[in-house]
Amino acid sequence: MTGASELSYEVIVIGAGVAGIYQIKRLVDLGARATVLEAAGDLGGTWYNNRYPGSRFDSESYTYGYSFSKELLDEWHWKEKFSGQPENLRYLNHVVDKFGLREHMQFNCRVEAAHFDEANNLWRLKVSDGRELTCRFVILTLGLLSIPTLPRIEGMDDFTGRSFHTFDWPREPVPLAGKKVGIIGTGATAIQVIGEIADKVGALTVFQRRPNWCAPLNNSRISEAEMADIRSRYDEIFATCARTPGGFEHEPDRRGFHEVPREERLAMWDRLYDEPGFGIWLGNFREIFTDEEANAEFSDYIADRIRQRVDDPAVAEKLIPRDHGFGVQRVPLETNYLEAYNRDNVRLVDINETPIERVTETGIRTSEQDYDFDIIVYATGFDAITGAHDHIDIRGVGGERLRDRWRDSPSTFLGMFVHGFPNLLMPNGPQSGSASTNYPRGIEIGVNWCTELLEHMWARGITRAEATRAAEDRWTAHVTKMYSRMLMRKAKSWFTGYNSNVEGHEAGKVRYFVYNGGTPKYVAVINEVAEAGYEGLVLTKGPAAGLEKPAAADRVAG
Ligand code: NAP
Repeated sequence: MTGASELSYEVIVIGAGVAGIYQIKRLVDLGARATVLEAAGDLGGTWYNNRYPGSRFDSESYTYGYSFSKELLDEWHWKEKFSGQPENLRYLNHVVDKFGLREHMQFNCRVEAAHFDEANNLWRLKVSDGRELTCRFVILTLGLLSIPTLPRIEGMDDFTGRSFHTFDWPREPVPLAGKKVGIIGTGATAIQVIGEIADKVGALTVFQRRPNWCAPLNNSRISEAEMADIRSRYDEIFATCARTPGGFEHEPDRRGFHEVPREERLAMWDRLYDEPGFGIWLGNFREIFTDEEANAEFSDYIADRIRQRVDDPAVAEKLIPRDHGFGVQRVPLETNYLEAYNRDNVRLVDINETPIERVTETGIRTSEQDYDFDIIVYATGFDAITGAHDHIDIRGVGGERLRDRWRDSPSTFLGMFVHGFPNLLMPNGPQSGSASTNYPRGIEIGVNWCTELLEHMWARGITRAEATRAAEDRWTAHVTKMYSRMLMRKAKSWFTGYNSNVEGHEAGKVRYFVYNGGTPKYVAVINEVAEAGYEGLVLTKGPAAGLEKPAAADRVAG
C-alpha cells in the first residue's frame, strides 16, 4: 500500500478525450506531477470511439477546436465546415503530439474505484491493470456520452450476423455493399448513419420508436482561402462563441417572436433552413425554447419541410414528431436523412404500430413479420452525463458512494464539486456549463477554472477543497429552477435524464443534468466565486498538509 507521503501523482485526470487532453496540457505547463488514465486503447474519447459512418461535428469545425494556442490555430486546416470523425481524431492526436502530452497519458487503464482516504487526505484509485495509485486531486473528464446503452430485447445474443452499438462500430471497415442492415433508433447518431449508408447497403430497415425533429447540416468543404479568412477572424469567432448562450457562432434572434410579423418569421426560417449548422435552432427566436405557441408554430413549419422532402405522405407523417416540439430535445443535423426514405431499398418500421417482439438468429421479429439481416445496428444512445461516474466506484468522506448520492439526480456546486467528495474536480461535470454548449468552449472554461483553483491552492499550501452542503444545495436549486422555464423539461431526452434502457432512468422523472443559463451567465457566476476567494468551497490545509513539498513554483507536489 502506498504511504501518504508517497503520492503516486499530485493529480490524476480520468479520461483522455477533448477535456482530458486540455486538462493535462494545463497541468503539464504548470509542472504538476500529473497523469491521465484512459480506459480505451488511445486518446480521443468520443472521437476515438464513435467510428460509425457519418460520424461528424454538428459544431462548425473551427469553433470546436481548442482556442488556447495561436500556433495551433494558425497551422491547422479544417477541411470541412462540419468535420468528420477521422479528421477530428487526427486533430486531437496532432494536438497531443505537438504539445508532447502523450507521455503523460496511460491507456487501457480503466479506473475501477476511487476512494477518498480521509485520514491522509488523498485519493486511492484502483486501476484495471491491478495497480493502486494515490493522488491528492482527481479530475474527472469522463465524457457526457461515453457509456453506450443497448436495448433490453429478448434474443439479442441469438443473432448470428454482426451486431453492434454505434459506439462500438468496428475499427476495421465493415463491408456494407449488398448487405441487409437493420438499425434501431432515430436519434442524432442514427440520423447520421442512415443518411450516410442508405445508398451503400443492399437494404436498410429503420426501426423507429419516436421520430426526432431534425434539420439540414448544409455541410461544405473549406478551401485554403476560406481557412485563411477563418484564421484571421479567430479572435472574433471565439469572442462570439463566448457571448452566445450555446458557445456557438449562432446568436438567438432577440426580437420578440410575437412582435415580428408572420411573413417575416417565415422568411427568416426559410433562410435559416438553408444555412449551415445550428442556426435553425440556436439562431431562432428565444421563445422557441419557452413558449408553447411559438414552438408549435415553428414545429408546424418544420413538419411542412418534412412533407416537402419525403415522397410518400404516409412515411412523412411517421417522421413528424407528435410528442414534443422542435428543439426541446437536442436537434440532430442531417445530410440526406429524409431523402433516404425516398429510396426503394429503405424501409421505415414504426415499432409503436408493430412492436419488436424479439431478435432472432436471422434478424428481428415484429408483431407483423420477421426481418432478415446481415447486420443489426443499435443506435440506442447513452447512459448520459452521470453514467460514466456511476461506472466507477467513487466513494467520498465516510465511504459515501457518489452513485448513491446521485441516484435520483445529480447535485453539485457549479457542476464542478460535490460536498463530501473533497479534491474531486469535474471541469465538465453534470450541471456545469459544458453539457448544453458547444462542448470544447465549455470545457476550456471549466478546465481553466479548475486549474486556477489548483494554482491558488498550491501557492498557499492548501491541500483540501470541498464544497459546502449549502453551496451545493443553492446551485442545484438554481439549476433545477431554470428547468421550470424551459419546454425541454417535459421532453424524453438525455437532457432530462431519460433512457428507457437504464433502470430507474425511464420516462417520468426529470434528472437535472444540465445548466440552462448559457455560457455568459455561467462564466460570470464561476468568476464571481473565484474572485470572492472561492466562496462555497472550504479550502484547508488538510491532515496531510506539510507532507507535500511544493517545488519551485510552489505548485508541484511529489
Ligand atoms: P439518443 O438521442 O438517445 O437516441 C437513441 C435512439 O434510440 C432514440 O431514437 C430512441 O428512441 C431509440 N431507442 C433507445 N432504446 C430503444 C429501444 N429499446 N427500442 C427502440 N428504440 C430505442 O442517442 P444518440 O442518437 O446516440 O444521440 C445522443 C447524443 O449524442 C445526441 O443528442 C448528441 O448530443 C450526441 N451526438 C452528437 C453528434 C454530433 O455532434 N454530430 C452526433 C451523434 C450524437 P426514443 O426516443 O423513443 O427513446
